[in-house]
Amino acid sequence: AKEIHQVLDSEPIITDTQLKHWQWIAEYYMCTLGEVLRGALPSAFLLESETLVQSSKMENVDEAELTDNEFLILEALRHQSSLKIDEISKIVDRKNVLPIVNQLVKKEAIILHESLNEQYRPKLEKYIRLNTLYESENNLENLLKTLTRAQKQSQAIMAFFQLKPKNSAIIKVNEFVKSSGISKAVIKALIDKGIFEVVKVRTDRIQFEENSKEVNQIQLNELQTKAIVNIKSSFNSNKVCLLHGVTSSGKTEVYIKLIDEVLRAGKQVLYLLPEIALTSQLINRLRAYFGNKVAVYHSKYSVNERVEVWNNVLHNTKKAQIVIGARSALFLPFGHLGLVVVDEEHESSFKQFDPAPRYHARDAAIVLASLQESNCLLGSATPSIETYFNVKSKKYGFAQMSRRFGDVLMPEIELVDIKEATRKKRMKGHFSERLLEEISTCLEEKEQIILFQNRRGFAPIVECTTCGNATQCPNCDVSLTYHQHRNQLRCHYCGYHMSLVQSCQACGNNTLDTKGFGTEQIQEELLKLFPNHRIGRMDLDTTRGKYAYEKIINAFENHEFDILVGTQMVTKGLDFRNVALVGIMNADNLLNFPDYRAHERSFQLMTQVAGRAGRTEKRGKVLIQTYNPYHQILHQVSNYDFDKMFTEQLYEREQFKYPPHVRIIRITLKDKDYNKLNEASDWFASSLRNVLKTQVLGPEYPAVARIRNQYLKNILIKISSNSSVLQTKNSIKRIEKSFNAISYYRSIRLIYNVDHI
Ligand code: ADP
Ligand code: ZN
Repeated sequence: AKEIHQVLDSEPIITDTQLKHWQWIAEYYMCTLGEVLRGALPSAFLLESETLVQSSKMENVDEAELTDNEFLILEALRHQSSLKIDEISKIVDRKNVLPIVNQLVKKEAIILHESLNEQYRPKLEKYIRLNTLYESENNLENLLKTLTRAQKQSQAIMAFFQLKPKNSAIIKVNEFVKSSGISKAVIKALIDKGIFEVVKVRTDRIQFEENSKEVNQIQLNELQTKAIVNIKSSFNSNKVCLLHGVTSSGKTEVYIKLIDEVLRAGKQVLYLLPEIALTSQLINRLRAYFGNKVAVYHSKYSVNERVEVWNNVLHNTKKAQIVIGARSALFLPFGHLGLVVVDEEHESSFKQFDPAPRYHARDAAIVLASLQESNCLLGSATPSIETYFNVKSKKYGFAQMSRRFGDVLMPEIELVDIKEATRKKRMKGHFSERLLEEISTCLEEKEQIILFQNRRGFAPIVECTTCGNATQCPNCDVSLTYHQHRNQLRCHYCGYHMSLVQSCQACGNNTLDTKGFGTEQIQEELLKLFPNHRIGRMDLDTTRGKYAYEKIINAFENHEFDILVGTQMVTKGLDFRNVALVGIMNADNLLNFPDYRAHERSFQLMTQVAGRAGRTEKRGKVLIQTYNPYHQILHQVSNYDFDKMFTEQLYEREQFKYPPHVRIIRITLKDKDYNKLNEASDWFASSLRNVLKTQVLGPEYPAVARIRNQYLKNILIKISSNSSVLQTKNSIKRIEKSFNAISYYRSIRLIYNVDHI
């Protein structure tokens, strides 16, 4: 036994329920409890010996101010929440990276993880007050008399009385200096004489506004009132309920009413959102009603801020009665949960892929709610197949709002056949004449337009027209994307980049051409087609700067752009009043994505982006460009036929044995050595086949079979409803043990993904 060096916390900072929940996560998602702890605790990464680097507060510095190496590091941090120093060395291919890291710290683009003690130390702010001796007027008068020669010092004392807040004896030094113009040297002299005293005050880092609106003032319409009645009555029998409300039906107001009741009962609310960086609009809406009861929790906030929310939740203080957060917020130490809201429950970003725990936040939230005997409300305009399936099989309750608030019509959706348009020479670049016509009309009416394209950059492929060679990433099995703005070819997987070359690397001819198109190219075509209009772009590349995302949204809201071109980011929950037209540039690459959920996802994405159009009296319009206007999904999108989409997809899933009809577990093996990986995955797959009574598929290479020079192979296990999931997992774990005993395979990494792959 070792001596105790220091007691860090006088009371436990985690609760029994939390531990139970985390144990469930570890077992269900097949990882260790340690991995869950590391993801759950705001400080857990400190247990690792190497210094870790994390990008700061979700928005970094201006991209234009970054060197290429700095850019690469931030790019990598977009995909991984933190990096070790030696990983950074590999990324920028340099031994000593500390100068670069220090520069990034200076630019406030990243933070280094603080030491364990420091992060529990509250942030202290320096205040001054007048020595209590001078509370008596006599003493004060005498003091001022003695200072007649030190004019600046007596001025400082007068200024102190003028500037300090009325009901307070102290004033913040920085503020005092700023508003009085009195120099720090003078203040120091007064402190040295014992006239001023320094007080250090613990400050809450999170700033609050007062709530400006009353929940009582919300007048619900009939559909909303009915939805609330249904939700509440379903909570009597079923702790989980789905609210299926079309875009702009007013789901948020329904949440606000329900939240208000839970708060009045003194209970806590967890509000989960897919990605917090994308939802400042929603945070503002909730703060307007609940003011400083709303806390925001995000893995990219500083450790101090997260510890503060953690403690507020632990002690059930008013300051964090509602916590809004992306997935990691469900690890907070709630003890009095009354309601969990999972907004946009269909969003795939609720699933964490890397690192472990590879959990799905919606599903883990449902378990959390049941451990706390709390209700759980899932909301979406386009529910996921698995959730809707649970509604149909009566596991979840159900409420519906099928019309928009204020009887605004759903936008009219039109399919544009671009194969036909190309044949008849009715295309200008990537725009059909039909889409251009609608854009022009909108612009004339001074209305705004959103154009959606699922790829960033200028073009995803640079290919030689002589020999057909496409420029590939040296580290990954993908072609490099051309970014015109930097005149570079970049890998979207590892961050590798090179400047655009003029001649083909394979045959040497000067016949390189781009194939496919991204948001950058659309923006450029628009600038040529509509030179007198302002065109904005929102994708990963333009939202890197500090508050860049908010800036673009505000600018678009204030009509500083006429047209906004963007990737998925423009589809998510935004509420723009003046958008009359939405254009989907190409539906086909969504529909043809190699994934069993491609059709479901396409339906969700297109319906969501269409939902940004026509949120006021005038009916909005949506144009979808496609080579295949007969695709069943496109018809379901244009007819708002969710039920048909659901029935057909469910049938297909049944035919091909995919969730929700079976459970799936995917095992990914990863190694630098191609031959070893193949051998190992064959060994693993055949052991599984010997032991498991369920279907084992693979090993197979994924669509991108090499990333950062690591080869990948997948094994898929399908568990039908008559087999035990738990038994299967235990068998897999036993096989893993034998596998790890083979020393030749020691370098191989095993990655489990359960349910959501
Ligand atoms: P959803 O989240 O379902 O897409 P929102 O909650 O954003 O829809 O509502 C759409 C619009 O209608 C918003 O501008 C919202 O403020 C307004 N709205 C919804 N319900 C009400 C209500 N009861 N009273 C006033 N405005 C409402
Ligand atoms: Zn790469």
